Amino acid sequence: MLPRFWRKIKYRYNLVGTYCENCGTYYYPPRNLCPKCRRKSKIKEVQLSGRGKVISYSVVHEAPENFKMMMPYVVALIQLDEGPIITSQLVCKPEEVKIGMRVKAVFRKYGEDGESGIIYYGTKFAPDDGR
Ligand code: ZN
Repeated sequence: MLPRFWRKIKYRYNLVGTYCENCGTYYYPPRNLCPKCRRKSKIKEVQLSGRGKVISYSVVHEAPENFKMMMPYVVALIQLDEGPIITSQLVCKPEEVKIGMRVKAVFRKYGEDGESGIIYYGTKFAPDDGR
């Protein structure tokens, strides 16, 4: 099932969202239908810039089960430059986070399955150094 495999890779390493050509709204995560336009939706897949700003955040002191991560860690509400608002882990120290801070998407290892050798990756955000 090669096409399916590549599709997964694409979603894992790029921030792929959708755009409704009827009303000009971006969506992330991607969706098949625009809730504003419904049957008039003209949805196409787009790659998002992965850049945005922090609009709210909280510091989490408990790690989810089976995840080894630095404690405490930061979960932020991020508004992407294209408009969608998403929740993501922010890779920085709690004292470094500021409302309005510029951030960018990074792809980080989430975990590893020792027996099968599978490595899991996912999107997180980190402070945008401007590069
Ligand atoms: Zn629309």
